[in-house]
Amino acid sequence: MPETHEIIIVGAGLSGLSAAHFLRRSAPGLDILILEQDSRPGGAVRSFKEQGYLAEWGPHGFLDNNPASRALLSETGLDRIAQKAPLSSFVRYVCHEGRLVQLPQRPAALLTTPLLSPLGKLRLLGDLFKKPRAEEQSVGQWAAYRFGPEILPLVDAAITGTFAGDYERLSIDGVMPGVRVLEKEAGSVLKGLLRKKRGAGAGMLPAMTSFPLGMEQLITTLATGPNIRYQSPVRAISRENEAWEIHTETGTYRAATVILALPVNRSLELLAAHAPPLAAIPTARIATVALGFTDKAQVPFGFGYLAPEREKRFAMGALFSTHMFPGRAPQGAVLMEALVGGRRHPERLELSDETLISRIYDDLRQLIPLPEPPCFSRVLRGDSSIPQLEMGYPALLTWKDSLEQGLDGLHLCGFGWEGIGMNDMMKTAKMVADRILRRVGGKRQKPEVRPVYF
Ligand SMILES: Cc1cc2nc3c(=O)[nH]c(=O)nc-3n(C[C@H](O)[C@H](O)[C@H](O)COP(=O)(O)OP(=O)(O)OC[C@H]3O[C@@H](n4cnc5c(N)ncnc54)[C@H](O)[C@@H]3O)c2cc1C
Repeated sequence: MPETHEIIIVGAGLSGLSAAHFLRRSAPGLDILILEQDSRPGGAVRSFKEQGYLAEWGPHGFLDNNPASRALLSETGLDRIAQKAPLSSFVRYVCHEGRLVQLPQRPAALLTTPLLSPLGKLRLLGDLFKKPRAEEQSVGQWAAYRFGPEILPLVDAAITGTFAGDYERLSIDGVMPGVRVLEKEAGSVLKGLLRKKRGAGAGMLPAMTSFPLGMEQLITTLATGPNIRYQSPVRAISRENEAWEIHTETGTYRAATVILALPVNRSLELLAAHAPPLAAIPTARIATVALGFTDKAQVPFGFGYLAPEREKRFAMGALFSTHMFPGRAPQGAVLMEALVGGRRHPERLELSDETLISRIYDDLRQLIPLPEPPCFSRVLRGDSSIPQLEMGYPALLTWKDSLEQGLDGLHLCGFGWEGIGMNDMMKTAKMVADRILRRVGGKRQKPEVRPVYF
């Protein structure tokens, strides 16, 4: 007989653990089992600690402006120890013509930035007169049409920093659905933003959040409590007598309610038998190259920098980790974490660790005064890859909605559904938990417009 539970969650990454948290918080008596293929929780979230350096294989932080993640932090007590780096005081840089230039943090700052010519700045206002195009466009096509081509390197930097992606392939409707709604409703993005500005909380910049033991502290906290069965890769799911059966290599489980909290492509594999099979979506891998320097390194104050493709640099950018959060390097040392690879340069991940370290060091020292070579170096090659919400992605969401409505008791959340960031995961996990607890319909909420996208 299959082992039976009220709810089974497949995947103990941030999405699965968040869904379990929100369910257990509202209904502590629920019998929930999480099946995880790995021997550790967290999926893409994994911190690295060695010789006093604290770096990340995956995410480095998330913004504190999302109600679901704020709830999760206060309900677990993590809000009391969270480390915060506010965007209002921490600057970001973009690599522009071979040097680091401060990135405008607010739309108004675009008018004074040296990153755009006077004509380029004037062209931004062209958005007020451009009719919204109904058809799906790439992020690059959309941005050039609305704001002019000079904006593209900044868009490229933003997309590199979030998706490690290619702005010519990503879909604007997939990446910024809220901005598209705003554009269509108000007739222009700027008109829509001006209307929104009058609302409460307008103009407040959020803070980047991490924890003293790194991002993994969020995972270890969430994983303390729920019933997680590790080394249990789910191979198939089937519908038997009004319930779901979950088949792993070691056994079969049964539940009326199942949450697949998996990256899009893993869910598509498991769902192939229940719906017309869909092609996998593209993904992008990156490696983090963690470099420690003595304090002779003159790392500018701020979060870090991003490099648009046209700058032809080796690294996509680097985080100034010791500035962002305390405790990332031993006394007297600084840590930078450079990112390499991404959608456009997967071949760079084939290089040896030694080559990556020396190419990254060469790249960084052209931008930042680094009088000495690194005193610490590690290449962190994570297993996770970032789903790319490219052209055609909105059709996948429509497919998902009808699938969830047609397959009773089956819910989807996870990496690449409804976004790719940690806030997206926690928000969607909460929506799924609410839907299960209240048994409400699966209608998607109106997409939000965010004050900051990366
Ligand atoms: C390199 C990198 C950097 C990132 N940086 C940031 C950042 O700075 N800020 C930010 O907000 N976001 C960032 N992200 C995104 C963030 O990490 C994700 O939003 C989040 O971790 C996704 O969580 P998840 O649980 O949905 O998926 P995952 O983390 O992929 O977890 C899925 C889990 O399911 C398990 N699993 C898979 N298949 C099966 C199966 N068949 N059976 C059982 N278990 C299975 C996996 O082992 C895994 O534990 C980054 C991602 C990457 C890869």
